[in-house]
Amino acid sequence: MSASMQINGSLAIITIDNPPVNGLGHASRSAIAECLKIAEANVEVQAILVTGIGKAFSGGADIKEFGTDKTFAQPSLPALIEQMDAYTKPIVAVINGVCMGGGLELALACHYRVASSGAQIALPEVKLGLLPGAGGTQRLPRLLDMESCASMISNGQIVLSDNLAQSAMFDVYETDREKLLASAQDFAHSIADVRPIPRVRDRPANAPKNADLFAATRSALVKKAKHFPAPFACLEALEASLVQTFDEGVKTERAIFQRLLQSPASLALRHIFMAERAAGKIAGVDANTPLRNIKAVAVIGAGTMGAGIAMNFANVGIPVQILDLQAASLEKGLERIRHNYQSAVSKGKLTHEQCEHRCALIVGVDHYAAVAQADLVIEAVFEEMQVKQSVFEQLDEVMKPGAILASNTSTLDLNQIARFTNRPQDVIGLHFFSPANVMELLEIVRGEETAADVLATCSALAKKIKKTAVVAGVCDGFIGNRMLEQYTKQAAFLLEEGCTPQQVDNAIETFGFAMGPFRMSDLAGNDISWVIRKRRLAANPQAIYSKLGDLLCERGRFGQKTQAGWYDYQVNDRTAHPSELVNQLIKQHAQTLGVVQRQISDQEIVQRLVLALANEGRKILRDGIAARSSDIDIVYLKGYGFPMHRGGPMFYADCLGWDNVLNLLQQFQQGYQGGTWMDC
Ligand code: NAD
Repeated sequence: MSASMQINGSLAIITIDNPPVNGLGHASRSAIAECLKIAEANVEVQAILVTGIGKAFSGGADIKEFGTDKTFAQPSLPALIEQMDAYTKPIVAVINGVCMGGGLELALACHYRVASSGAQIALPEVKLGLLPGAGGTQRLPRLLDMESCASMISNGQIVLSDNLAQSAMFDVYETDREKLLASAQDFAHSIADVRPIPRVRDRPANAPKNADLFAATRSALVKKAKHFPAPFACLEALEASLVQTFDEGVKTERAIFQRLLQSPASLALRHIFMAERAAGKIAGVDANTPLRNIKAVAVIGAGTMGAGIAMNFANVGIPVQILDLQAASLEKGLERIRHNYQSAVSKGKLTHEQCEHRCALIVGVDHYAAVAQADLVIEAVFEEMQVKQSVFEQLDEVMKPGAILASNTSTLDLNQIARFTNRPQDVIGLHFFSPANVMELLEIVRGEETAADVLATCSALAKKIKKTAVVAGVCDGFIGNRMLEQYTKQAAFLLEEGCTPQQVDNAIETFGFAMGPFRMSDLAGNDISWVIRKRRLAANPQAIYSKLGDLLCERGRFGQKTQAGWYDYQVNDRTAHPSELVNQLIKQHAQTLGVVQRQISDQEIVQRLVLALANEGRKILRDGIAARSSDIDIVYLKGYGFPMHRGGPMFYADCLGWDNVLNLLQQFQQGYQGGTWMDC
């Protein structure tokens, strides 16, 4: 049962009961419809109250039913809402908390609304590439000013009931949550006899105060929502509320909803929504696994990563010690942290007090015994196995029993690192991305012996520090960097075969990436990938790769930091200018290899780069490094700037169909010296 009814004198109180947020799944909808029928037939009942159990009125559609037949099974949400709108006795929505999406549409179809302070009100469908499809775009502007509607519906933001207290949305606004139901019952008695029953549909929609509202909102969206049709479609539906009757407007809304439902951007966003939820489930780790208590953290290494990592914990109030053996590095790291916080203050994102509080939570230390009592220690020292060995041996010696020992290594063998200790079950990889205080992705690397409670604790901690975590197995580069290697290899092959760096970058940026591979490499530093290539080549001298990146580095073209990389740069200017020298270098290199250069289409560039990612993703799945295909998408979306409206490399390949993908890979493979660079 997902809704129950209690009769209290002349009032019927229907309570939606589908934790955690009283989703309007099929069972809830059927139960509400059934309760309404019974209440209608009961001559004693004069008015109906609808509320939710716990802290939510209703969070809208039930995500467990997402994409299943149950979503549209009768009574569908629009049908239930019509039934409520046309009901012969007055219905009062008693909004006790979260009231979003279909939940808000249901409340809007009630004849009255009583809300408590602090209730979260939103129509967030746009975030899934949709619009409210059960009358929301037609009823909201009949209660709220059009400016608020345009902003709420086209960006899906949450508004607190307190900010709507003065609007026509609520008939009663109760500041004391404890008294909400009592106030609502008093109110219901007062309106029980009022006829005709007021219906939102009969009110006129509120015209915008600013005649330019729709044009201005559209032009503000052009850049922000370039690849997403939904925000524009939301405005289209709102405009319909002004010029069409309510019934026509609902039909328009329905037609737009159906159109958006099939749109590639919505399919991608819905895939991401489900993928984010799936990523939190770790194979072999029970959801009820007891967690270790993380009250104090230590970070080893105050370099680029260590400083950023430390900030994540201070941001949520966890004290962090930061250890570096070089006094100058430690000082520089602490200064960088303070500088970052101060610049947040100057941008108005942090108060001066918050800045001071967070800085005070991060304390520098210079010896290992000082960090012994930390519950979690994260190593972020140089990417060299001997250095990691010395750090982990010392940590093993000093850390208290039960402490979690984590490494931020990007490429090294975590199992080997774990074996430097006598407690491999407590060792885990926590691979942050740069800048670590900003990037949302966290790869949690599961070693052969990592204990379930260590995984569960780190997964919960990731949520606390507002990261999206994906669990990866141990291999060179884990999920993200292992795939990146194939992508950057492919980008360099494209140069050998006839592209320029700007052609490759422009093609993939038009596809939606924020930055193409060459601009990105110039930003990160070409010397970093050079070091990694050398190490990989030493381990596998037969590896096929393009030497172009090495040729650049041999000429000192490390990227923006040397004002020369794949492009040329001016001092203090990040604008990439095509380099004649690099273009000549590429041509000469192709001649040396005997490659006949050709014109390559943007479509081929995009497919080769994206399918290089997907093909490696397929192998990562095969090798058990990722638990599910959607985890790989999350890594690329949150850590590597893969365009959201494409849903991730695996989703892209799924949409193309893997038979087609493999055919394409084979075709591309034949193009280059008959080589086997894209082993499929
Ligand atoms: P970095 O060179 O900026 O900083 C390393 C710091 O470690 C230095 O301050 C150094 O003094 C200190 N250090 C070295 N040996 C030490 C020891 N024995 N004890 C204590 N401190 C010691 O390096 P980084 O870029 O911050 O990278 C650190 C780790 O993070 C590496 O494993 C790297 O692969 C990984 N990582 C880096 C990035 C990135 O983009 N930079 C991204 C993800 C992961």
